[in-house]
Amino acid sequence: MSTKTIAVAIDGPAGAGKSTIARRLAKNLNYIYVDTGALYRTVALSVMSSGVDPDNVAAVKAHIDTINVDITYRGDEQRVLLNGNDVSELIRTPEVSMMASKTSAIPEVRAFLLGLQRKLADEHNVVMDGRDIATVVLPEARVKIFLTASPEIRAKRRYDELIQKGTDVKFEDVLSDLIQRDEQDMNRAVAPLKPSEQSVIVDTSDLDLEGAVKAMRTVIDNILSGEN
Ligand code: C5P
Repeated sequence: MSTKTIAVAIDGPAGAGKSTIARRLAKNLNYIYVDTGALYRTVALSVMSSGVDPDNVAAVKAHIDTINVDITYRGDEQRVLLNGNDVSELIRTPEVSMMASKTSAIPEVRAFLLGLQRKLADEHNVVMDGRDIATVVLPEARVKIFLTASPEIRAKRRYDELIQKGTDVKFEDVLSDLIQRDEQDMNRAVAPLKPSEQSVIVDTSDLDLEGAVKAMRTVIDNILSGEN
């Protein structure tokens, strides 16, 4: 990673508010927002729509050798491209979420996406969110934050988001999917979800969006100004 650019790494479990908060912070700071979950979702979508068996690691490995995943920006909005096609909406389904959690445990899938993530941080000031940004992708990031909240609160947020988009889901299913994804993400052998030793932990259970953005901005400002 270049020392000329500044990276804010935000890790945490599904539904902690990472993407909404990170997007707001990036706009505030005039940095680029990188949603790395969208990259894992794009690979998952590709695996799903090609009929590749996600449990057949060799088949998944062979499949990713044939695809191209990239990020582009429309204004300050990140779009993900699969073989040149914008799949930013198609990746936001519960099925893709679950598939992403599965395929992201494959080391070759992680290696496949690593270069793109590092390149973006090398070329721009970034707020990057994911699961392993502080621990693996950008261990030199200036700011490392681990954002979390209770499972019930995270599931409620995710549920509201899906309902608002018109997706027909049950709260109990969203909660159990989320708990299963947490389990998979925290217990995988490669790049498991966990705070780095330097990460500042921010719990958003009792904070609304404004409160969470403010708390995060204070952490970032303190670190960047060298007070922390
Ligand atoms: O953040 P989001 O819910 O979009 O991520 C989807 C899935 O992608 C996660 O459950 C996780 O398994 C995987 N992921 C990952 N590493 C990242 C970002 C996402 O393994 N940096």
